[in-house]
Amino acid sequence: MARVYNFNAGPAALPLPVLEKAQAEMTEFAGSGMSVMELSHRSKDFQGIIDGAEANVRKLMGVSDDYAVLFLQGGASLQFATIPMNFRREGKTADYVDSGSWASKAIKEAKLSGATNVAWSGKEENYIRMPKASELKLTPDAEYLHICSNETIGGIRWPSFPENETLIADMSSEIMSRVVDMNQFAMVYAGAQKNLGPSGLALVIIRRDLIERTPETTPIFFRYKTHADEGSLYNTPNTWGIYILKLVTDWVDSLGGIAGIQKINEKKADTLYGVIDGSDFWRCPVAKEDRSIMNVVWRLPSEELEEQFVNESKKAGMIGLKGHRSVGGCRASIYNAVGQDAIDALVAFMKAFEAKNG
Ligand SMILES: *Cc1c(COP(=O)(O)O)cnc(C)c1O
Repeated sequence: MARVYNFNAGPAALPLPVLEKAQAEMTEFAGSGMSVMELSHRSKDFQGIIDGAEANVRKLMGVSDDYAVLFLQGGASLQFATIPMNFRREGKTADYVDSGSWASKAIKEAKLSGATNVAWSGKEENYIRMPKASELKLTPDAEYLHICSNETIGGIRWPSFPENETLIADMSSEIMSRVVDMNQFAMVYAGAQKNLGPSGLALVIIRRDLIERTPETTPIFFRYKTHADEGSLYNTPNTWGIYILKLVTDWVDSLGGIAGIQKINEKKADTLYGVIDGSDFWRCPVAKEDRSIMNVVWRLPSEELEEQFVNESKKAGMIGLKGHRSVGGCRASIYNAVGQDAIDALVAFMKAFEAKNG
């Protein structure tokens, strides 16, 4: 077996024990005589899986009964469109923070369907930092405030969150990576393919009072209420994705929950930023206090060296270190499933590369 060190931004590395468990159960799941993919989504066996997945999310993230936990299709991007359709009523405004590529995609969708106030934008500064709460130009009586808690491409994250009655966060690239008080949020959502499982599945956690707000004119499938009322089984969900999410969350639990994995993640990030900060050869372009512990971005002295670095790292068994095409440079996505061993291999490679080319 030759598994590489996988630094892909998404779909991304999954924990090996999860893949092995899925492999062992692939042809016959728990005495059912069939694979999970062949189970009816209305069967007792599948109900056990989805109930287990929900229970894990509630336990790990501390989600109370005031919130519904939904497993939806369309990834995080569909939520960009459905959030304003559900929660911004006729004649009202929604506030958004523009912190980078993903936040601005959400804004683009929101602008299509109604009044959208960009409460702060980091665009002029090339998205190198998050705003302070005091910098936000909020609308009085806005329907909600939308943020992206961790910008996957820019490599920045909110160290703490602005206080807001109706705070909605895209947490796709950092969900379950650090302890967060869920009660600060009206809604949190994440595409699964970074920290939770395969693509094509979104985890949506939403306060029940918000669910009731949706206008009657919203198409039935696009209403969060539809899926909340049906336990995410209004139509056939991504059953395989939900199954893997259940296994991934079992794995997080086995490591001491989110507090346990946060410690591991902080050590990983410290190791990598330590090397970047330790020499002028590497340069991290983003503000120190807002640096992501999931997506680490850095530059080399020239674009030629960056290209050489990415090519040689591939040959050394490290995949996915090229920065996003829109920003260039290098990026290591070091999600929950990327272990300290991968980081140690990467920093050893970086030191050797600098010794040769610095
Ligand atoms: C990956 C990502 C998305 C898009 O997720 P899809 O599931 O492809 O729609 C949205 N927001 C953030 C922060 C992401 O990292």
